[in-house]
Amino acid sequence: MSTTMGFQTEVKQLLQLMIHSLYSNKEIFLRELVSNASDACDKLRFNALDNPALLSEDSDLRIRVSFDEAAKTITIDDNGIGMSYDEVIANLGTIARSGTKEFFASLTGDQQKDAQLIGQFGVGFYSAFIVAQKVEVLTRKAGLNADQAVRWVSEGQGEFTIEQTEKANRGTTITLYVNEEGETFLNEWKLRDVLRRYSDHISIPIQMEKKEEDKTEWEVVNQANALWTRSKADITDEQYKAFYTHLSHDYDEPLAWTHNRVEGRSEYTQLLYIPKHAPFDLWDRDARRGVKLYVKRVFIMDDAEQLLPSYLRFVRGVIDSSDLPLNVSREILQESRDVKLIREGSAKRVLGMLEDMAENRPEDYALFWTEFGQVLKEGLGEDMANQQRIAKLIRFSSTFDDQATQAVSLADYVARMKEGQDKIYYIVAESFANAKSSPHLEIFRQKGIEVLLLSDRVDEWMLTYFREFDGKSLVSVSKGGLDLDQFSNEEEKKHQEEVTEAYKPLVERLQETLKERVKEVRVTTRLVDSPSCVVVGQNELSPHLLRMLKQAGQ
Ligand code: ADP
Ligand code: MG
Repeated sequence: MSTTMGFQTEVKQLLQLMIHSLYSNKEIFLRELVSNASDACDKLRFNALDNPALLSEDSDLRIRVSFDEAAKTITIDDNGIGMSYDEVIANLGTIARSGTKEFFASLTGDQQKDAQLIGQFGVGFYSAFIVAQKVEVLTRKAGLNADQAVRWVSEGQGEFTIEQTEKANRGTTITLYVNEEGETFLNEWKLRDVLRRYSDHISIPIQMEKKEEDKTEWEVVNQANALWTRSKADITDEQYKAFYTHLSHDYDEPLAWTHNRVEGRSEYTQLLYIPKHAPFDLWDRDARRGVKLYVKRVFIMDDAEQLLPSYLRFVRGVIDSSDLPLNVSREILQESRDVKLIREGSAKRVLGMLEDMAENRPEDYALFWTEFGQVLKEGLGEDMANQQRIAKLIRFSSTFDDQATQAVSLADYVARMKEGQDKIYYIVAESFANAKSSPHLEIFRQKGIEVLLLSDRVDEWMLTYFREFDGKSLVSVSKGGLDLDQFSNEEEKKHQEEVTEAYKPLVERLQETLKERVKEVRVTTRLVDSPSCVVVGQNELSPHLLRMLKQAGQ
């Protein structure tokens, strides 16, 4: 008995979008389906750690790709974990990924922009409909009986049918009935070429049919060892990039990567990538983050967030540990000493990769900064051990060029400091425009002293932890106690004394009038055009931060 069901609205939208925006990139269907087959084999291997019977009947995991020119079908078959009836409905009828809401909200209707977005979001299983007018999935979950298999069929319009059926062995077989677009793939060389380009890094053997006389043999077409276990010299940039796509769902190339085998107190391999674009859910607390964890080449979990500090949550990649137990859980990860070593080691590697980019590829670094700079700033408060290293990577706006684009490093600032200047001056405001036009800057502009212009949400918080760079303290120009005398000549100083004397009666009167409402009224040198301003003490919270704390209910 088969049942017809409708796709979730988002799936319908995604299908529509995909067909219209990805027609020039048809071959991605193959990497998505092979990638799912590989995930399914990884999951089975993982579940078999506790329950070896799951593997025993058919223990050589593999993926098979074949086609039938006459019937116009392409088949992708795996002997991985398979799906139950309910799992088929959940996985192939809805989109459960985090960031889905944000993704749909950010669509513009502009085909090119949306194609880019959809690339970042990742199309997964549904990409089958780029080349197929009908897709049939036959699947049997590991551990279930032959008659508990499921058949799912859809033409990729609004609905699919599903029924319970029989399947002789465990795993999933996906048959694509190709449309006109898909006919080019009914060709051995074409399929091999795509598989080699996109799936070579996959650790499960991918086999293709080799027809000889009347018997069929299966021939492995990929290297079939996990990419990160190979030596760097044997991996091409193309292979690193293809692996990144497999890991991240991101169709854009990564900005940088680092691949190392770490030995010593803790042994592990890390392959970490920096994406080119921030994901939709970078600021979503519940978003998936972290890297894939393997233990001795066995896949353990996605999104292991303990393996990197949270200010590096944009990093994607794989960590393969030799020390952790295979039955490691998220709870164990939180307390493990090995995990702590991995986290520290990985943070250092990522910082090293960023330093290298900042120095040798400034344009890429600027791109990185725009996408992830605000997250990296969190590191100044979160990772005191690496604070000075992180500080060198931070970029600011400043009165040097008055540009909203943050491009000034603290090293640039220090190199431009005036003779005798021993402090780094900054101002924090609610927007770049407010910072730039603040009256507090008047005297600094007049004296040619550079001031950093801060207006990101995280800045005030960051500055409560970050008070010193290169032995120079950071000083707010909008707070009291600025000592700029050293930048005045004798004549200016004398003038200042006269003015202070002359205005003494006024100051006293103001002090009397304002009484408890201010701590002190004084004649200042810090203003040039404005008559007066309010400042707070160097160690007091700024009005801006007070407002933020109040809004947060504190
Ligand atoms: P993703 O791979 O990012 O989860 P997909 O759209 O590619 O998204 O796949 C959706 C889900 O369908 C997968 O998470 C998996 O649970 C299930 N699935 C897809 N293909 C297979 C397969 N060959 N074997 C088992 N489960 C599969
Ligand atoms: Mg997938």
